[in-house]
Amino acid sequence: MTEHMHGNCANLLGSLSEYIDGALSPELCQEIEKHLAGCENCRVVLNTTKRTIDLVQSPAEQPLLPEDVRERLFKRLNLDDYLNTGSG
Ligand SMILES: [Zn+2]
Repeated sequence: MTEHMHGNCANLLGSLSEYIDGALSPELCQEIEKHLAGCENCRVVLNTTKRTIDLVQSPAEQPLLPEDVRERLFKRLNLDDYLNTGSG
């Protein structure tokens, strides 16, 4: 059981959507990738998120997801779940 999650995890998951969108600077991307290399937990979250987005984002012809849907999508993934390792 990991009681002490790195603060990095919260940071990373916080900017995960931007990272996937490619909205982060190359430097930040490197930081994130560095963290991912050593943090399986975050890798799982990233993969799950990516796959989910992949499923809902259809190629070219269809319009991008409205922000509303995206937000709900990320909420559905319950990212917080990965951060809250215990109550209290
Ligand atoms: Zn992590």
